[in-house]
Amino acid sequence: MSRTTAFLGLGAMGWPMAAQLARHARETGGRALVWNRTPAKAQAHAREFGSEAAELSGVADADVIFSCLPTSAEVDEVLGALEGQLRPGTVWVDCTSGHPEAAPRQAARLEARGVAFLDAPVSGGPMGAERASLTVMVGGDAAALGRVRADLAFAGKIVYVGESGAGFAVKAINNTLMAVNMWAAGEGLAVLARRGVDLQAALDVINASSGRSYPTEALIPQRVLTRAFPVTFELGLLAKDAGIAADMVQDARASAPLLLQGAALYRAAARLIGSDADYSAALKLVEQMNGQEIR
Ligand code: NDP
Repeated sequence: MSRTTAFLGLGAMGWPMAAQLARHARETGGRALVWNRTPAKAQAHAREFGSEAAELSGVADADVIFSCLPTSAEVDEVLGALEGQLRPGTVWVDCTSGHPEAAPRQAARLEARGVAFLDAPVSGGPMGAERASLTVMVGGDAAALGRVRADLAFAGKIVYVGESGAGFAVKAINNTLMAVNMWAAGEGLAVLARRGVDLQAALDVINASSGRSYPTEALIPQRVLTRAFPVTFELGLLAKDAGIAADMVQDARASAPLLLQGAALYRAAARLIGSDADYSAALKLVEQMNGQEIR
């Protein structure tokens, strides 16, 4: 079946995700439209991957509209601009790490036009998108997911997690768990460094032992010890995710002091280190707090 997809937002994630849609379109005889606020990026994407750069109004005819923007606020803006032109039967798949409270509101707004809205944030980073191995966590109408499952050409794993907003909720908690793990690892390594312990050796032990985590295995050795801090995911976006988790803690009247601390620490790190730094650079604040580089 020949399909037209559209991808809105060609940032660090959207660029390689939309490239997978273009590949899929080539393989299936479909079309892959791309739109970006800065149009030159969409034109460059079309040249590089064979997608079609479109005006925003031009994406309304797509069968599936994907978005991957910084927050739910930008999705609201774009949705507002397109809303009047959307066709019944379209499915909007929002891959933004959005706010769980935004999703049911956005879904209700689009349902009035016969358009289904799925919150479908992703995990795996730009590299996961390039390898088409992203994990997608989907909230909303399960039947609508069934209609677009085959269009998620950037996915390695798709998990339906529940009603509208559940995808955004799982994503915020996932990222905050990673953030808390990274911060704790940073504190532990700063303490060890102050004692004169070699951190390569310490990580060699930790990564073969029960203290290991994604940050000790795949972030700190490559990004912090090397002092490279390459920007693939902005610290400000991680602080946003931890803030969403903190909102969820309050909304649920839950008792989750580590998650709330995590949100406060990452807000401070984004402010003091820079929201456009790489997320691993949050550990520069741990370094300042300890007068000790983690290297
Ligand atoms: P980037 O900052 O790299 O890209 C942001 C994109 O949003 C750009 O295309 C930008 O357009 C566009 N944009 C910003 N403001 C607006 C606006 N007001 N109206 C329309 N478009 C706008 O972000 P990422 O790709 O890193 O992140 C996108 C989402 O994915 C976030 O929610 C993030 O938390 C999540 N995410 C990121 C991961 C990562 O590793 N980077 C991993 C998993 C999820 P322009 O080019 O014009 O600036």
